[in-house]
Amino acid sequence: MDPREAALRKAYDHAVRWLASLPDRRVPARADAEAIVRALGPDLPDGPGAPAEVVDLLATACEPGLTAFPGGRFFGFVVGGTEPAALATDWLVSAWDQNCVMRAASPAYAAVEDIAGAWLLDLLGLPRGGSVGFTTGATTANFTCLAAGRDEVLRRAGWDVARDGLQGGPGVRVLAGASRHMAVDLALRYLGLGSPEPVAADDQGRMEAGALRRALAGGGSGPVIVVLQAGDIHSGAFDPFTESVRAAREAGAWVHVDGAFGLWAAVSPRHAHLMAGCAGADSWATDAHKTLNVPYDCGLAIVRDPSALRAAMGERGDYLIQHEHGDPIDKVPELSRRGRAFTVWAALRSLGRSGVADLVERLCRHAASFAAGIAAVEGATVLNDVVFTQVCAEFGDDERTDRVLARLLDDGTAWISGSTWHGRRVMRISVSNWSTTDDDVRRTLDAIRRAAGTPAQGP
Ligand SMILES: *Cc1c(COP(=O)(O)O)cnc(C)c1O
Repeated sequence: MDPREAALRKAYDHAVRWLASLPDRRVPARADAEAIVRALGPDLPDGPGAPAEVVDLLATACEPGLTAFPGGRFFGFVVGGTEPAALATDWLVSAWDQNCVMRAASPAYAAVEDIAGAWLLDLLGLPRGGSVGFTTGATTANFTCLAAGRDEVLRRAGWDVARDGLQGGPGVRVLAGASRHMAVDLALRYLGLGSPEPVAADDQGRMEAGALRRALAGGGSGPVIVVLQAGDIHSGAFDPFTESVRAAREAGAWVHVDGAFGLWAAVSPRHAHLMAGCAGADSWATDAHKTLNVPYDCGLAIVRDPSALRAAMGERGDYLIQHEHGDPIDKVPELSRRGRAFTVWAALRSLGRSGVADLVERLCRHAASFAAGIAAVEGATVLNDVVFTQVCAEFGDDERTDRVLARLLDDGTAWISGSTWHGRRVMRISVSNWSTTDDDVRRTLDAIRRAAGTPAQGP
């Protein structure tokens, strides 16, 4: 057999076995990193090995050290699984090995990126004609959008960042909610904008629109960026967009929204009200590898004014073949990169409009079941208003909460991470995986009851 085909068949066998193990395997890894190093052997071999054997060694040695992230009972951080069509397409993306920089070099990629971008704007209720860049994740998507915003507000102030940099230019004021995600701070740091001025948020993490209005009124007339949030990682809460966007626009600010997982509320008739007014912003960052459940790594940088994004990210090279209507290269920080839009297209094509809405509603329904189930555990309290996919709970005091979390991880049925919210330790559940079933939720609630030292209920 051709060595390439033999290696692919080996990878296929291991992948299928891995996926089949997900419904019943322990969610946390069974082995630590040292054990995996021992199993692989730390030394670089002197000579070549057969590709199929290399794949076999890697897959066999790593298996005990893998976490069941793509399974139905991983509720830590905010991660997604992998939709079947997107996973299979991701393999094709590697086999096709397209460099997705230029329209002329890979017409197939350019076509699919155009279609997927238009579908996304439609589904998310964002302005038709906006520009959609396919980044590595929401951190880079925030970076990309905020770069477009920074350059644009400075351009309006008569300053050209691309030519003159930031030194000596007008200062840019950045206002962001007190409960923003740290990815926003990272993006601002990369952009040379420093830490944002925090705007007060309520107990759910929602920015207070009145506080934003006052903060904007207190500044001068210089360049301003306002960063809003769709989906707080603890509570799932959404900023009051209508009010905040209006206040920011009146102050001449660029309005950006970090909606890494929350932007997807727009696709669900039941949850779209959370997004009311959000489409009035200038830019939006979200992930495809969270709620949409495509494989890593894929984020989306969406900008209302394509020329602002192109001015920040576009590049001209004498050796490139560039299209007058712009190329994929004009929308993201990277030059060479893989065909991320292929997997997004496959996920959307396979789910269809109703499938994307069903996915989001299923995640929210599971989150509500978790809230109800945990509230019934003796001594447990759900701390947030469960409006979307996130649930935060405590079990009496910090010590007991940490003990329940540690016992739960030991138990291995599910993975749920802890956090500190409003000064107390919390169990933080994020329902983000397409494959989570009612039974997964039931089994996880049983495990939580065991960890809390209260017996399981019912059959
Ligand atoms: C996950 C997340 C990010 C960062 O996204 P990455 O894809 O991990 O880079 C930013 N903001 C929010 C609200 C998130 O949940």
